[in-house]
Amino acid sequence: MTSLLVTNIGELVTWDDERPVIRDAALVVEHGHVTWIGDRTAAPDADAVRDVSGAAVIPGFVDSHTHLVFAGDRAPEFEARMSGRPYEAGGIRTTVAATRAATDEQLAANVARHLAQMRAQGTTTVEIKSGYGLTVRDEARSLAIARQATEETTFLGAHVVPEDSEIGAYVDLVTGAMLEACAPYARWIDVFCEAGAFGVDEARTVLEAGIAAGLQPRVHANQLGPGPGVQLAADLGAASADHCTYLDDADVAALADSGVVAGLLPGVEFSTRSPYPDARRLIDAGVTVALATDCNPGSSYTSSMSFCIALAVREMGMTPLEALWSATRGGAFSLRRDDLGHLAVGAKADLVVLDAPSHVHLAYRPGVPLASPIQM
Ligand SMILES: [Zn+2]
Repeated sequence: MTSLLVTNIGELVTWDDERPVIRDAALVVEHGHVTWIGDRTAAPDADAVRDVSGAAVIPGFVDSHTHLVFAGDRAPEFEARMSGRPYEAGGIRTTVAATRAATDEQLAANVARHLAQMRAQGTTTVEIKSGYGLTVRDEARSLAIARQATEETTFLGAHVVPEDSEIGAYVDLVTGAMLEACAPYARWIDVFCEAGAFGVDEARTVLEAGIAAGLQPRVHANQLGPGPGVQLAADLGAASADHCTYLDDADVAALADSGVVAGLLPGVEFSTRSPYPDARRLIDAGVTVALATDCNPGSSYTSSMSFCIALAVREMGMTPLEALWSATRGGAFSLRRDDLGHLAVGAKADLVVLDAPSHVHLAYRPGVPLASPIQM
């Protein structure tokens, strides 16, 4: 089979400049890429035909922020937090201990299990960070395992300072031997720039070392309170500043002017009972917004992009169409990938069909498994 016609699409979301959403549509795929989009009645012939019976078809979700290489879970911590204890960044160390104790096979199996859950829910691209090893050996093996699953791998040795280390010595390690061991498996470098993790000077040192080693920067910024992370991301031309929960006007302007993508991760605010970031304010200021799960066992243990879309619409002032854009095309911008997150001619044919006539149902029917990938 060389060409596939997908037809009788009730609503096709392409994000094509001319026709971003097409009703009563069809689409042709050849060799893994979209070669034609348009009205059903004008569709060309193809070697095979798939009739989706009026369902909506959207680009696969691009989850641009996850921490999938870990062992264990933190359900007791979540339960305690739901009983009134606040979230503290140090909880990461619990997962570090479990991750160091796990075998490569256990870690790889856990990644595979989560990726299968994500794919079954319509996610077709996943970024994966290290950050629960925090030794040269454990960070390098985390990234080697992540690289088996995705090209979009991120070295996050600067996630938290390990218990037995002093911050200056640890930054030397992250920017020295650890970076050298990890860079071959990573495309990106990231740092948790936050009170209780890394200050702005340490964060800059880490990111600049990564850039010198050929990695591209992204930042965990302004999650738990106001801080310098967003401005640092703008200064260094980072692809994204993720979290962006506490922003002042200068931060919003810096994001808009620099083109740094604001990665919003509402699963975190849900799971930590915290205030949500203000997506409306960012979009109205001209900032590019991505939505991602931040899937991790501490602060956001969801693998569902549909859930994040529902939260963004209900809690963050986004329209259903804006939230879908941010979960697909916005994620692709965050990863600087022009081939993903849309279904215009030439894009990768990551097609997801909804058990619904329109994308609105993703937020309108929260928690319902509507999205699934179309197998080629
Ligand atoms: Zn994160």
